[in-house]
Amino acid sequence: MKKLALLSAVALSIVACKNDAKEEAKPVQETTENVVEVIQKPEVKLYTFDGGHIKVNNLNLFAQGDTYKGETIDLANAFYVIKHPKGNLLWDAGLPENLVGQEPYTSPDKAFTVTRKDSIVNQLNKIDLKPSDVNYIAFSHLHFDHTGPANHFADATWLVQQPEYEFSQGEEIKSNGFYSVDAIAKLNKVQQLHGDHDVFGDGTVIIKSMPGHTPGHQVLFLNLTNNGPILLSGDLYHFGKNRTGKIVPQFNHDIPETEKSIAKFEDFAKQNNAKVYIQHEVTDFAKMPKAPKYMN
Ligand SMILES: [Zn+2]
Repeated sequence: MKKLALLSAVALSIVACKNDAKEEAKPVQETTENVVEVIQKPEVKLYTFDGGHIKVNNLNLFAQGDTYKGETIDLANAFYVIKHPKGNLLWDAGLPENLVGQEPYTSPDKAFTVTRKDSIVNQLNKIDLKPSDVNYIAFSHLHFDHTGPANHFADATWLVQQPEYEFSQGEEIKSNGFYSVDAIAKLNKVQQLHGDHDVFGDGTVIIKSMPGHTPGHQVLFLNLTNNGPILLSGDLYHFGKNRTGKIVPQFNHDIPETEKSIAKFEDFAKQNNAKVYIQHEVTDFAKMPKAPKYMN
């Protein structure tokens, strides 16, 4: 009996030791798991949508001097959803929805003719997303062709560079036909950014500050598992030959600042071996799978 009791006491103490060892080992195990988590990239999906079409009837607006005099161009008008395990980001929103079901609309100065085929709620349905499922909304900038149906996303946190937000709250924006203050009126959950911002904290989705086109213009960097690093240009460039010639539109908010951003963008793209997609360029838009298909 005594022997048995002794044995069980030993057995108990072994169990106790094991438990102690287990307790002590726990932080190590957690650290290892964290490391594994960092090494394995989270699944990020990029969905591309058609946010309308712009026919530019006076392309010369997109240059200094008379570079494009007498030329016209067709522009895509994409918007995107980035699905990340930690949340969904809407990047841009396309043209206003009051264009849906209407004849093409030409601006009073005849410079632009715009159309939009479908509403954003219908479009997001293709990937089973409701506006309330969008956690973050960010625009490359606040021009009307990027913010159209933004008010559907009042529950989302609006990620905006501080100078762009300040401009949106000022007087100047109200008299500038490139903006629509009403389009963003319901976005009250504001997170002002002061430069680059890693949206989910793991390097896969980074907003890059590239001011000039507007006071707080920004572009989006994605580090995708299969497609690798990519950059969505916003309106840093509007079409391919704008990029090759480094030509800055005459209506930009700050031309020297745009030129600085262009240099910064090209350096960053080169260093990261990132594929650049110009959001308004029809050939780049054509290359991207459309929702419900995605890039990952
Ligand atoms: Zn713009």
